[in-house]
Amino acid sequence: MLKIGVLALQGDFAEHAAVLREIGAQPLEVRKAEQLADLHGLIIPGGESTTISRVARASGLFEPLRQFVAHKPTWGTCAGAILLAKRITGEAAHLAVMDITVTRNAFGRQIDSFSTDLTVEGFETPLRAVFIRAPIIESVGADVRVLARLPDGQIVAAQQGHLLATAFHPELTSDRRLHTYFLDMCHQQRVIA
Ligand code: GLN
Repeated sequence: MLKIGVLALQGDFAEHAAVLREIGAQPLEVRKAEQLADLHGLIIPGGESTTISRVARASGLFEPLRQFVAHKPTWGTCAGAILLAKRITGEAAHLAVMDITVTRNAFGRQIDSFSTDLTVEGFETPLRAVFIRAPIIESVGADVRVLARLPDGQIVAAQQGHLLATAFHPELTSDRRLHTYFLDMCHQQRVIA
């Protein structure tokens, strides 16, 4: 069974843990560095990226996290994607591991939350995606594969090797395909490790 950590400093980690349990993985809420030791992968949930980063630094988890995400499968959703990004428009980066540029709260106050159907690479039918004060992925580096865009072309899901970033919240809908996709990434790395 895959043991998948969910960073549990702030945000909607409980929802991710519930989905992981539902699809047959063993979730672990991560609050201490020792808990990273034997994980097959990690989810950094949505919430407030500045808060998650601040609490991680204050609790001594930031540096161990940085080492973990450098080579182990990690999926950042919304705030989690912001934490992974090498570049954040107008702000300093946090874990700075994934070759993407993100802009926070990219949809403005009028439409700060919405849901829409996305075409995701490799999925046969559209995926319902919930956006909550979401970032946008402005640009990606050469090694990053774009997995989904909004109809206007803005990037909202991308993968760079062992790193997955989504601007929306797959833990808030009943579609389990992205969680299953991430488990496949973790399984593959476990096989080759
Ligand atoms: N607006 C948040 C941030 O900038 C992200 C929102 C979310 O995770 N739903 O960190």
